Amino acid sequence: TRVLGIEGTAWAASAAVYDRATDTVEIETEAYQPDSGGIHPREAAEHMGDNSPDVVERALAHARELAADDPDCGADDPPVDCVAFSRGPGLGPCLRIVATAARAVAQRLDVPLVGVNHMVAHLEIGRHRSGFESPVCLNASGANAHVLAYRNGRYRVLGETMDTGVGNAIDKFTRHLDWSHPGGPKVEEAAEDGAYHELPYVVKGMDFSFSGVMSAAKDAVDGGPASSASGASSDPRSDGGVPVEDVCHGLQESVFAMLTEVSERALSLTGSDELVLGGGVGQNARLREMLGEMCEQRGADFFAPEARFLRDNAGMIAVLGAKMYAAGDTLSIAESGIDADFRPDQVEVSWREDESP
Ligand code: ATP
Repeated sequence: TRVLGIEGTAWAASAAVYDRATDTVEIETEAYQPDSGGIHPREAAEHMGDNSPDVVERALAHARELAADDPDCGADDPPVDCVAFSRGPGLGPCLRIVATAARAVAQRLDVPLVGVNHMVAHLEIGRHRSGFESPVCLNASGANAHVLAYRNGRYRVLGETMDTGVGNAIDKFTRHLDWSHPGGPKVEEAAEDGAYHELPYVVKGMDFSFSGVMSAAKDAVDGGPASSASGASSDPRSDGGVPVEDVCHGLQESVFAMLTEVSERALSLTGSDELVLGGGVGQNARLREMLGEMCEQRGADFFAPEARFLRDNAGMIAVLGAKMYAAGDTLSIAESGIDADFRPDQVEVSWREDESP
């Protein structure tokens, strides 16, 4: 089986081909980089429209090369068996463009469509690459933060953010500093030169909240709530503020400890001894270190896929698409609408039945 995956929920116009026989994935991505501020949905949608055809053509070129070497694939056969695309969650204007592209390619090649939940793809790629059987999954991405575990046919959300996604919280803090998007890698770099500065730590039950930590981080660099509330200071790092490196260090420690605590409690609750990480924030070495240490102390195994599978990418869509296709989980064009608020626990998992009795 070969699958074309198409992704475009937020910033990555991405297409990939997954070849099941060799378990290889080729990913082609064009990233949207805002001139200023964060992701503007209309600009991001324009980026999808401008770049999706090109990344799809590049991925299909890989598929044709693989098909040429495949004795079971005739000269007139399509180079892929199906087209998988991100149905959501994500920015509606982006999702609509990508879904339209997926429908057009599937019709042109005369192959079925597979509609993939982007968050389930973030976690399934870790399970696929690790070979773990039934791990707890921490998805730490831009717009989301979930701790999930599989039970009775669905990925159940054991813990999630009560306000913003974890990456978005970090990006909002760096926007306040006038740092360019995305902020996560810049905070990681600055944190290395900083000392610990204490910031709020908010875990309620199994859920976490990031907005208070983010506001406190802004206040700390500004030198107190009063100066940030006035908006008078044009330089956020003006007098009296905590050094920005210290705030970055404290921000990482608080936010990542919150994610680690809930992941640990999910391991304890489910009795699982496997944890996989997914999502763009998972590229952060300090987060991986904390999760790795926690797992080591419990005698659990920890796996984080390589960076190209952590950030948004069509590779994870193609890999999960292949599993769904094998399970007969395809969509007609009429059923292939997008869902900007598609939750991971809405997905009826079709592809694990034979794996976990
Ligand atoms: P979602 O998958 O929820 O739709 P998303 O589309 O925003 O989220 P991802 O690619 O999963 O995308 O994650 C992007 C986020 O990852 C951004 O918020 C970015 O700041 C963050 N990020 C990237 N690298 C790092 C890093 N090294 N440390 C912390 N955060 C990072």
